[in-house]
Amino acid sequence: MKKALVIFSGGQDSTTCLGWAKNRYDKVEALSFEYGQRHSIELEQAKKIAKKLNIKHTILNISLFKEIGNSALLDKESDINAPHSQKQNLPSSFVPNRNAIFFTAAHAFAQRIGASYLITGISQEDYSGYPDCRAEFIKPLEKALNIGSDSDIKFLYPLIHLTKAQTFKLAKDEGVLDIVIKDSHTCYNADHSTFHPWGYGCAECPACKLRQKGWEEYQDSF
Ligand code: ZN
Repeated sequence: MKKALVIFSGGQDSTTCLGWAKNRYDKVEALSFEYGQRHSIELEQAKKIAKKLNIKHTILNISLFKEIGNSALLDKESDINAPHSQKQNLPSSFVPNRNAIFFTAAHAFAQRIGASYLITGISQEDYSGYPDCRAEFIKPLEKALNIGSDSDIKFLYPLIHLTKAQTFKLAKDEGVLDIVIKDSHTCYNADHSTFHPWGYGCAECPACKLRQKGWEEYQDSF
């Protein structure tokens, strides 16, 4: 039996991955992180989506980011559209070492539940400029974690070379486009009341702009 664990934020990309995994593996579970994110509505949406797809869903609490992290994503008062306060070439929403900690925790959880595959929705095409969303970071981490725990868990990132428009198409192909539009949450400003053709959001934060642009490109492709 092939079992997979999906790192699941409740956003467009990981919701697409959940649909993708469900169509390929015998058993799929989803793992989310509560880390003090300002858009914690995404966790509420994550719960709803997992329920709709009939996937077992676990939320891990990782509160340490509030103490070690420096990111506008953890602070409602910060300007989400500005550059990062210490790394001017990165966006303010960058959370230092977030994926290193998420993947390390998820890798341990995968061992616990007997999953042989760890799936994430990271992308290095239309992405937010986070250096920890690149294959050159994930591949050595996968190798190190497997060596360090005597495991052989394969990391999969089906969206790594996809644009947001191509991710919308993949969601359609995997049968989850409706859930992506109506239930997934991407907006950094936690706006889940204003509905657009591409989903809910403020339409002004970088995450909404990326999602809107991807939707328009996807529509233009017909
Ligand atoms: Zn927004």
